[in-house]
Amino acid sequence: MTPSANGETAANWIERESRVLMQTYKRYPVVAIRGQGCRLWDVEGRAYLDFLGGLAVDVLGHAPRVLAEAVARQAAQLVQTSNLLFTVPQVELAELLVERSPFDRAFFCNSGAEANEAALKLARKWGKAKRGGAYRVIAAENSFHGRTLATVAATWNPAYRVPFEPLPEGFDFVPFDNIDAMADAVTDETVAVILEPIQAEGGLYPASDDYLAGVRQLCDERNLLLILDEVQTGIGRTGTLWAHTQWGIEPDIMTLAKGLAGGFPIGVALSKERCSVFGPGDHASTFGGNPLACAAALAVQREIERLHLVDHAAAVGRYFTERLEDLRARQPLIREVRGRGLLIGVELTEEVARDVLDGLRERGLIANALSPWTLRFIPPLIVSQEEVDEAVDILEATLAAQ
Ligand code: PLP
Repeated sequence: MTPSANGETAANWIERESRVLMQTYKRYPVVAIRGQGCRLWDVEGRAYLDFLGGLAVDVLGHAPRVLAEAVARQAAQLVQTSNLLFTVPQVELAELLVERSPFDRAFFCNSGAEANEAALKLARKWGKAKRGGAYRVIAAENSFHGRTLATVAATWNPAYRVPFEPLPEGFDFVPFDNIDAMADAVTDETVAVILEPIQAEGGLYPASDDYLAGVRQLCDERNLLLILDEVQTGIGRTGTLWAHTQWGIEPDIMTLAKGLAGGFPIGVALSKERCSVFGPGDHASTFGGNPLACAAALAVQREIERLHLVDHAAAVGRYFTERLEDLRARQPLIREVRGRGLLIGVELTEEVARDVLDGLRERGLIANALSPWTLRFIPPLIVSQEEVDEAVDILEATLAAQ
């Protein structure tokens, strides 16, 4: 029993939660209390190997010393000022991101959905200023861009959209990975395209090799902005710092959140100068780019570089995929292994993902599912080959017991 949980059992906490929280999450029956590296412990002292990583957030694993120290140092100095003042970590973080990307300017916020909201508002303003009022945005079927009203309007899953209609209008969906369908959907009112380079929440579907180049060319020909949502794929997750470099293209706007500060809430929309049309008063956030979040992000980004974690994610991700492919050859329940780097989906031949997740957890591995037939593995970028071996062994035992 861990003392800081007041001696209460997991069942007690779960019952207390059910009385006071809006029931928006289907949670696993794990009350997490402590983490270290790729391990998590629950209130009853059970250890888990964490291949969920805070939903692709905990890039340095749990409780990394550099993050704890940076947050403590900054918290003791200056936490929040509002954006009516200049603050040093915000400028330094924007400089770091601009230096390491093809973008010129940053707008900071607090989450992935907010980053996409900023990108969509930027595109609309640009449409008014430069494209005669064009405002429509093309998004892809199977997309996921967040849960605010506008980002849900750009999200495909009807279960996330329909209960909240009417939504902001002006979003058109086309099949992902089909350049002809996108070209057909463009009208004079279209201002932008928003895509994930690898559709993650929608089932783990990477764009094929020439798709993003085709979209880039279409955007250039029709004078549209290309917004890439790298909230999940950014920060080394796919084996390059930004996923889009693997497709050899540059978007006009890129959004990031999740791994940017290794678990501290932050989001950012980065844009090229030609579409950085926001002026004073156009967009704002009380907490966006606060010193604490930016100091956390700076520490995390510097540690990623110091430890060469992007290359590490590429190498361990390759190893993980090879081991899963080996398993697929012996295990008929696995249909396909998809993804890049440490963003990996395992599609099953039967709709048993929930049962498999339960089995993994009982054997000490936490992961999640994107559909009744697709498992997702998104461990911290620091994950070792030995931890990957452990996870694959647990998966093998679990599938064998199905
Ligand atoms: N965009 C993508 C591609 C995501 O995967 C997510 C979250 O999973 C979001 C946006 C929304 O991010 P947040 O939950 O931080 O608002």
